[in-house]
Amino acid sequence: MFRAVDVIRKKRDGEALSRAEIEWMVGGIARGDVADYQWSALLMAIVWRGMDRPETVALTEAMMRSGTVVDLSSIPGPKVDKHSTGGVGDKTSLILAPIAAAAGVLVPMVSGRGLGHTGGTLDKLESIPGFRVDATLDRYREILGEAGLVLIGQTAEIAPADRFLYALRDATSTVESIPLLASSIMSKKLAEGIDGLVLDVKTGDGAFLKNLEDSRTLAETMCDVGASMGKKMVALITRMDQPLGLAIGNAIEVEESLACLKGEGPDDLTDLSVELAAEMVALARLARDLDEARSICRRTIADGSALETFRRLIAVQGGDPRVVDDPGRLPRARKAVEVKAERPGWVGRLDAYPVGLASMILGAGRERVDSKINPAVGVRLIKKVGDPVEAGEPLCTLLVDDESGLARAADLIEGAYHIGDEAPSLAPLIVERMAEGAD
Ligand code: URA
Repeated sequence: MFRAVDVIRKKRDGEALSRAEIEWMVGGIARGDVADYQWSALLMAIVWRGMDRPETVALTEAMMRSGTVVDLSSIPGPKVDKHSTGGVGDKTSLILAPIAAAAGVLVPMVSGRGLGHTGGTLDKLESIPGFRVDATLDRYREILGEAGLVLIGQTAEIAPADRFLYALRDATSTVESIPLLASSIMSKKLAEGIDGLVLDVKTGDGAFLKNLEDSRTLAETMCDVGASMGKKMVALITRMDQPLGLAIGNAIEVEESLACLKGEGPDDLTDLSVELAAEMVALARLARDLDEARSICRRTIADGSALETFRRLIAVQGGDPRVVDDPGRLPRARKAVEVKAERPGWVGRLDAYPVGLASMILGAGRERVDSKINPAVGVRLIKKVGDPVEAGEPLCTLLVDDESGLARAADLIEGAYHIGDEAPSLAPLIVERMAEGAD
């Protein structure tokens, strides 16, 4: 009906594509009559020329419909998920999913793996001995009904067109485009069978989009796309200038998540997890307003119900629930190496990107898609922005198994800490909130 070459030319020349043209191009992936090189050319034209909202909505819907759109209507209750655009030390999914589920929200979560310098929920969960993230969609529904929450990876049935396009984008330098990022993320989330979605859009050094203007446009685009498909949407734009919490790795991030669920975690991580969980509870209409939702969420930590929910999730997905009371059962690195301050002062900045990179180099992330990760290694921060330090005091500990990356990782960490003569002013973690179809 169309010709790929005409669609590419139209976008190359800056015109908007019609819904029919977009559907035909996405359909061409399964039909096999649009070649990889034609999609690659169209992706590059989209990076340069952009897409307006109707085009972005059409692309998201076409990718979502390229696979199964899960129907969860047989399970009664409000289904709300959260998605983060990715960061360093960002383990909020592991904390907020049990909190929201303990508060009565059904949380059907399809998560991703680490990408570049950022960590992934699936890799963290797999550091729990036995934990399986590869359930079928039937089992996904069953677990949600049984446990009130489920955390799995993208199956072959969910948005296969996105899988194909994501691989092409990765290989053609066409990842960083707001309509492509928004449609890729939203096509998968909208296929999960949710009623509402809370977005944590990161901004700053450790985020994929580093400036606030781009992060805001991405948040607005994703909210519009979700709302146009009848979903309740909330987005928080949050700072990712320094890592979230103190642990960056896999097993150590699970350990820190357990500490938060026991009420013993670092404040920044606990506060952001509670805020995002409260947004989920409010979206699910299980509280009169956000203040009440926050109290409900805090109560699930204080009364132990969030921790019990996490224990149930681990058991039902095949993991060893004894890690909850005894995190020593998680994989441990062989060696701990301290990085020390060279001068006294205050930590004025702690750049998230090099810390994420250092953790990846130690083996906690992947250099290539097919690299194996080491669940035990990572970086444990001791000092963060605003902390005073003495010369020779430890700033952080590198948890190491294979020493080949140690010198490079230590260099990166030394460059990430900026120590000044005065205490810095601390910026709030949450920069902005926006909502569509939710309040
Ligand atoms: N995560 C996604 O799912 N898609 C992107 O394009 C980037 C991050």
